[in-house]
Amino acid sequence: MLTTAPRGTKDILPDTSGHWQYIEETAYTVCRTYGYSEIRTPVFEHTELFLRGIGETTDIVDKEMYTFTDRGERSITLRPENTAAVVRAFLEHKLYAGPQPTKLFYMGPMFRYDRPQAGRYRQFHQFGVEAIGSKGAAIDAEIIVLAVQFLRKLGLNELKLNINSVGCPQCRPVYRTRLQEFLKEKVTAMCGDCQSRFDRNPMRILDCKKEACTALSQGAPQMVDCLCDECQAHFSQLKDLLTAADVEFVLNPRLVRGLDYYTKTAFEIQYSPLGAQSAVCGGGRYDGLIEECGGQPTPGIGFAIGLERVLLALEKQNLLPQAKNDIDLYIAPLGENAQAPAFRLLCQLRQEGIACDMDFLNRSLKAQMKYANKYPAKFVAIIGEEEVQQNKVMLKNMETGEQQLIDMDTIQQQFKAERKG
Ligand code: AMP
Repeated sequence: MLTTAPRGTKDILPDTSGHWQYIEETAYTVCRTYGYSEIRTPVFEHTELFLRGIGETTDIVDKEMYTFTDRGERSITLRPENTAAVVRAFLEHKLYAGPQPTKLFYMGPMFRYDRPQAGRYRQFHQFGVEAIGSKGAAIDAEIIVLAVQFLRKLGLNELKLNINSVGCPQCRPVYRTRLQEFLKEKVTAMCGDCQSRFDRNPMRILDCKKEACTALSQGAPQMVDCLCDECQAHFSQLKDLLTAADVEFVLNPRLVRGLDYYTKTAFEIQYSPLGAQSAVCGGGRYDGLIEECGGQPTPGIGFAIGLERVLLALEKQNLLPQAKNDIDLYIAPLGENAQAPAFRLLCQLRQEGIACDMDFLNRSLKAQMKYANKYPAKFVAIIGEEEVQQNKVMLKNMETGEQQLIDMDTIQQQFKAERKG
């Protein structure tokens, strides 16, 4: 127990943290290009926020939340996703009073009590984007293109973008009735979850991954055939904009979100080489959510990308950059008397932004050279008894093997020049 992380969690060790930084930096760069600013919200919120913001009939709220009562008798939940928290912050800090739309992105850990498997964890990380305040299809297109560009920039090209429209509170009830009509004879043969979805949330039946349920719902009426004029126009504009941006998509009528405050655009990006857990990005419009959370009616759209899955995809395709741990200089003190001058040099050079390290284990010169080679270090500064007395260091170029005795006080300039040369 004491030496094992909890099930479904993972340590990110030094050999992979560079890969995470690479993915995160790519996300920062893309967001900056698109005019999105970062927001950081707490990893826990009042449970009520997620009950409202995700919906009580969803799997997340039904089965997957990490909820506990804190010492002040408040019900607290570790965030299972971040849209609700961003909306809470948008309202709390009156971000609607600033330039519109409010374009935000976030990155960080999410928590869901799910059965762990490859690509599915209990603590996982999402990079997400939310655009609040615009109801036009152009912002839908913008964030979809942003997601695609982020994945492509990392080198992932075999992307499949699925899109659908889930309508709005005007046209959805008509569809819901047609769908229930179609499913009512079949539902008794479906899984327990689908049976309970029939009344509560029938559109979610289309989303069930169980083979029997998928087969039984084949041929079900499609939301896109029941859209009102406004939703229809929005959807066709979105398709035109994606085509204009050269982003390929397929219409997937099974892509649904059964809650009232999800409206119009729903989308998902799959990376098929990942196999079972191939969804890397899920998103959609939530024009009713802000009102649901206590604000004025305000349209919004967002997505979340699962970073563990992105990392798995990059690993699979050999697209991760080589780790770069090399340093400019390794300082090798020999003996007690060399410790203080070596340490002073180390501190001075580091202040100048020169990446350097020194021996902290009193190793022999041979062992220190071996260690410096492993780093790798471009130069080694050897400081022995003689060098200490002369206030000098022996600077060795590890590439050429050249050595020269250099004044300790001028090493900074000389070393800089050496680096340039
Ligand atoms: P969702 O918030 O459920 O729409 O998920 C958005 C994305 O987050 C998915 O496409 C996955 O890439 C990722 N994701 C969701 N749940 C998990 C999980 N339990 N473990 C790892 N990644 C996940």
